[in-house]
Amino acid sequence: MANKRDKTESDVTTHDGLNPYTIVKDLLKESVTRLELSDNIYEILKKPMRLFEVSLPVRMDNGEVQNFTGYRCQHIDILGPTKGGIRFHPAVTVDEVKALSIWMSLKSAILDLPLGGGKGGVIVEPGELSDRELEILSRTYIRKITPIIGPEKDIPAPDVNTTPEMMGWMIDEFDQLRGYNIPGMITGKPIIIGGSLGRLEATGRGVVLTIQEAAKVLEIDLSKATAAIQGFGNVGSMTAKFLDELGVKILAVTDAKGGIYKKDGLNIPELIKFVQEGNHASEYSEAESISNEEMFGLEVDILIPAAIENQITKDTAPTIKAKILAEAANGPTTPEGDAILEEKDIFVIPDILCNAGGVTVSYFEWVQNSMNYYWSEKEINQKLEEHMVFGFESIIKMRDKEKCRMRQAAYMVGVNHIVKALSARGWIKDSDLSSKE
Ligand code: GLU
Repeated sequence: MANKRDKTESDVTTHDGLNPYTIVKDLLKESVTRLELSDNIYEILKKPMRLFEVSLPVRMDNGEVQNFTGYRCQHIDILGPTKGGIRFHPAVTVDEVKALSIWMSLKSAILDLPLGGGKGGVIVEPGELSDRELEILSRTYIRKITPIIGPEKDIPAPDVNTTPEMMGWMIDEFDQLRGYNIPGMITGKPIIIGGSLGRLEATGRGVVLTIQEAAKVLEIDLSKATAAIQGFGNVGSMTAKFLDELGVKILAVTDAKGGIYKKDGLNIPELIKFVQEGNHASEYSEAESISNEEMFGLEVDILIPAAIENQITKDTAPTIKAKILAEAANGPTTPEGDAILEEKDIFVIPDILCNAGGVTVSYFEWVQNSMNYYWSEKEINQKLEEHMVFGFESIIKMRDKEKCRMRQAAYMVGVNHIVKALSARGWIKDSDLSSKE
């Protein structure tokens, strides 16, 4: 017992020592410099405005109490209330949550959503918990962060390993505490209690919309294209579904347990059904098995990391043959991996654009909750497309103007937007702004 790592404590050495907070700060600094803004702007943006750590004691089914650790981080709320998901994962760290909250601010800024960035995390392997334990943990977490959340303050949502069902428990706990029904306190809820049509599919739909835009730029015919996906959770599986509908052949899918490959393309509707029945994608028997490393090196047009951070590294990037890397996950590429992608001239759809469809429809859900009037799925999907295409075009324009890469252009678009609000609120002086227009 003594040598066993305490699974409820944060371990900052995870992710092979690659710290996502350091990575995002370096990218912020680089974009402030490129935009010829003063360092004062970097000083403001580099630190989240609020970080909350909570202890979450849960009486487990065996009678023992296990005390989990949770966080909620709010980056900046000058554009609107902070917003972002809650992740349940054993590798959650303080610095990961901080980085994820900054990425949320940038996503909202790029897509012109009146929101700031927030993120939550609980250090836990949810697969090891019973349904009862998971429900108690979800409810305890929301109770503990209640003082700093709410529809006008900070609005949580699903993220890695959290589901609409869990959002249902969380809103129920919050409403019980407050004494009335507050539908806009969380998004990604079940539809019957105020969830939005199209939210479940939104991140994957958004990923595919950005792939369609990238294919136009690169003149790739998607009906003849091939793809491989890392991760088959909500985002990976929905991305597969919409790509499949466009005629893209998905040759490989990997998950935490392994991977599957079929040279003529996997049967995606069947695979989704298989996973919905409670199986892992990698257990699907109508295909050959493939490792994560082999999948990265496949001869495909589009590669989609849809799992966690730091997957495209100095080791995996050199093997990549894809023309498009669509970052459906948050922070999937390390700086070293990114430099290799640049050398290889791979078109990167950066995470802060690629996966922003989720928060966009979450924003629509929150708007509908406050109106108590609900749009059709068609309206939601139309509005989603408008925001995704707007974000993509703003970044392409910046890329062409600054002659930089998509990632740098995305950061610059996001930072520029936030800077306008900093200026309007009097946080910065004219001398902090660039003489560049
Ligand atoms: N967790 C998602 C993200 O990383 C969605 C956040 C939200 O819907 O607020 O963008």
